[in-house]
Amino acid sequence: MKRKPFTLVLTFLIALIFPLAALAQGEETLSLRLSRDFGYSSGSGDIQGNFSMKATGPDDLARVEFYIDETMIADDSEAPFRVAFTTDSYPQGIHTMAAVGYTSDGRELRSNEIRANFVSAADSQDAMKKIMIPMLGLVFGIMVISFAASFITGRKLKALPPGTPRKYGFAGGAICPRCQRPFPLRVLGMNMLAGKLDRCPYCGKWGIHRSRSLDDLRAAEAAEIERDKAEGTLPEESEEEKLRKQLDSSRYQGL
Ligand SMILES: [Zn+2]
Repeated sequence: MKRKPFTLVLTFLIALIFPLAALAQGEETLSLRLSRDFGYSSGSGDIQGNFSMKATGPDDLARVEFYIDETMIADDSEAPFRVAFTTDSYPQGIHTMAAVGYTSDGRELRSNEIRANFVSAADSQDAMKKIMIPMLGLVFGIMVISFAASFITGRKLKALPPGTPRKYGFAGGAICPRCQRPFPLRVLGMNMLAGKLDRCPYCGKWGIHRSRSLDDLRAAEAAEIERDKAEGTLPEESEEEKLRKQLDSSRYQGL
């Protein structure tokens, strides 16, 4: 009687371990990525300039051949497996990039394929101008506004009614971890590894902020209204206020 549950458990464990082992074996793929070193990428597949292909695979990956269409453009036998190329060396139009990897024991791995439309330098410059000119205008505008708002008038932004849709410019917007209000990041804010060093214009908290998605920011704007309704006021307590409260309470405790 007592053996049966044990057999069941064993069967269960085996059933659990085998897929896991299969997952570990699943590392047997070669993944190819394309990255821009210096040049233009429309985001919709048009590229021009200097790009790199990088392949990653299992630990025993020994050699990778890189292809553009049917032509092998490089053969790398040392990690990191990558090759730099310039699109101008190839005819304009759609090209397919791929890689074939070989492990030290001779297994062959085929990568995913990446298709891109190689455009001319003139086309990419036209496209860049179309993007850059309004962008520069916007950047300049935001610079002026953000400097005026956060350096000169400082905390005046507090007067912004809850839920007001903000414009998040070039640097994007962040959500203050303390007061939860969304605010645009300064373009000239100091770039740190994890984000931008900037100061929340509402509560004055300095922090390293990453720009959030527009959906998140809009949700945070909407949340301001909800909080405002729920609490009557927004949770905003400056360092000075906090310090003063602490001083007050310690004074009473001293009595
Ligand atoms: Zn804040």
